[in-house]
This record gives sequence, structure tokens and C-alpha cells, in this order.
Amino acid sequence: MTTNIRIDGSRLWDSLMELAKIGATEKGGVCRLALTDLDRQARDLFQTWCTRAGCTMSVDKMGNIFARRPGRDNSLPPVMTGSHIDTQPSGGKFDGNYGVMAGLEVIRTLNDFNYETARPIEVVVWTNEEGSRFAPAMTASGVFAGVFDLDYGLSRKDVDGKTMGEELKRIGYAGEIQCGGRPIAAFFEAHIEQGPILEAEGKTIGVVKGVQGIRWYEVTVTGQEAHAGPTPMKRRKDALVGVARMVGEVNRIGLANLPNACATVGMAQVSPNSRNVIPGKVFFTVDLRHPDADTLAAMGAELEARCKAICAEGGLSLDFKEIWYSPPVKFAPECTGAVQQATDALGYASREIISGAGHDAVYMSRVAPTAMVFVPCENGISHNEIENATRDDLAAGCDVLLRAMVERANAA
Ligand SMILES: [Zn+2]
Repeated sequence: MTTNIRIDGSRLWDSLMELAKIGATEKGGVCRLALTDLDRQARDLFQTWCTRAGCTMSVDKMGNIFARRPGRDNSLPPVMTGSHIDTQPSGGKFDGNYGVMAGLEVIRTLNDFNYETARPIEVVVWTNEEGSRFAPAMTASGVFAGVFDLDYGLSRKDVDGKTMGEELKRIGYAGEIQCGGRPIAAFFEAHIEQGPILEAEGKTIGVVKGVQGIRWYEVTVTGQEAHAGPTPMKRRKDALVGVARMVGEVNRIGLANLPNACATVGMAQVSPNSRNVIPGKVFFTVDLRHPDADTLAAMGAELEARCKAICAEGGLSLDFKEIWYSPPVKFAPECTGAVQQATDALGYASREIISGAGHDAVYMSRVAPTAMVFVPCENGISHNEIENATRDDLAAGCDVLLRAMVERANAA
């Protein structure tokens, strides 16, 4: 690829800021939950921009939107990039949105330079990546990749009982075309790191080699409710006391498997949650992560064993369920290689990195050679209204994306 082709960093930034107005919050973030009216507005804007850039648009049965720029040989599978434009309730301007706008900027740049790739290029908006309105996360890329079937995807419900299928129809994004089942030559996703490593080390580009495995657990511990006054300490079956020890175990297991492990209890519900009643029941969640599948499985097994032992000691009963497992992912060498090559050619400081968060690229890696490009974000903060990234870093990541995509789009 000729060395003078560069993306327009200001145009990329301006598009991101324009998109961030839809669902903008007072603290500078974005609240744009999947398949709401705001999501529809953002989708419409994306389609308008892509159509203006000469793309052919299509929408599949999960509401995934594809913008296609033709190549020299349109019988070849496309090189695809993209991410999501749904956000957390108090989300930022860059999570997901950057990957979609970077894809659009790649297309705009190729147009500016009249550059024709051998394969077609596509930019995708995946439906409901965040999972905050409809669980699980990454629903529609999961259906595309055959991880979930279509009926499962469409029947996911929000807290009001509305299904994804109904809401897709309501906002006009229940497409006709089949979700997935077609070959993709390569998939790239540009994303903010959502962690502090690149910024701390002064690196502009993270060449993402893979994604941590994740195991989610739901644990219910049952003891016995009783009056906080007349019930002697030694006769109690206090569920919260047991759970407090379990939370300590989760943290200990995380620390014992450093440097790569993460272990979190993010939610706990005490019942009856009354100050003078001994807690009879506690529900809590556990999120365990590690890039090595065996280590991750061992962490989960150890936690379950410790929870059982704690319950036995405290006269408590235990319901310990694993509700989700996302295996560790290793990205395709030809794609991570293209990202590294592009980064080196452009002279950016980089490091290899493992993603701590789930992304649509995780599921795409099951059906297409895949890689991700990370750029730093301020203080590593994401899923927060104050999420921030610099114009220069975002532009750098987009230039890397452009080169990596063009390399793959012209590869034999
Ligand atoms: Zn994201």
C-alpha cells in the first residue's frame, strides 16, 4: 500500500462527537441502550453516513447493519471491521462507537484516495454488545458466529419483558437477511483498551493477541433468618457471614493467580436486608477471568470447593451455579501479524496485549481469522461517563486498522 494514504483524524473525531450527541449525558458520557429510540437514531445516522460514502447497506435478522464497499472481485469474501454503538446506562463516547467510526473512516479514506481493494470491505454495527438491556452480552455477533441460534437471540428479554425480536421490529431494524452463515476473509475490531496498561507504558497501539477466558457464577447461600437480639452467636446460621468469607476467597484466588487473573464479586443481595434480622439468604455473583483455560477452570473449581467447605462449617446450604463460560481466545496470526506490521510501518510504539473484556471479535474469531487493535484510554477508565481518549491515539489506531485491512483485503 502506498505510504501516503492516511486517515483523517479530525473527521474521525468529529464523527465520534456527532454520534455521541445521541443519548449524551450531563457528565459527558452516553446512555444509549440497545434497541431504544436513541439506538435507532444512532443506527440511522450510521446508515446515512455510509450511504453517503457510497456503501451498499444491509440489515440481518438480528439487526446487525452491514455497510459494504465493493472490491475488484466481489465474489470474494469481504474483510470486515466494526463494533457496537449500544452503550452502558452510564457509558462513554468511545467504547464500541470508536470501532464503528474507525471502520467508516477507513471507507471514507479509501474513497478519498480512490483506492480499490481486491476484496470488498464491510463495516458492521453489532446489535446489543453490552448486554446491559438484554443479557447475555454480544448477543448478535454470537448469533452471527453460530454460538447462539436465532430464536435464542430474538427471544432475549429486557426487565420489562420486551424481547429483542419485538424491539427490533419496533425500531425498524428487523432485517430480512440471514444472520451469519457466509464466509468472512478477516475480521478486525478497533477498540479503546478499557484498561490502564498502554497509557502507563506510553504505548500508542496494543496488538491484541487474544482475550481472557471468563466464567460467571451465581451463588445462593441459605442459612436461617432470626432475631438479631435473642439469638446467641453460637446458634446462628448467618448466610452473610459465610458469604463474607467467600468474597474473601474470590479475592484470594485472584491474587494467587497473578499476573493475569481477575476475580470479582460485583453484586450481592442480602435478604431480608433488615438491620435487626440475621441474614437468612444471600445471592451473589462471581466473575473469574484468565487467559489460560486450565488455570481458569482450576480457579473455578477451587472457589466451589471453598464455598462448600465454608457452608459446611457454618451450617449453611449452597447453590453454586456456573451460568456462563467464554473460553480464552487466541487471535489469528495472519491478522495479528497484519496489525503488528501496520503499527511498525507507521512507527507507533506498541506492545502485545490480552484483552480483559469481552468483545464481538471474540465470537467472530470462531468463524473468521480475527484480530483487534487497542488504543489507550485515559486512566484506563471505561463503562463510565468520563471515559476519554485522545484524538491522536484514536487516529493512530484507525491508521493501523486501515493498513491491516488493506493488507488482508489484497492478500491472496
Ligand atoms: Zn465495547
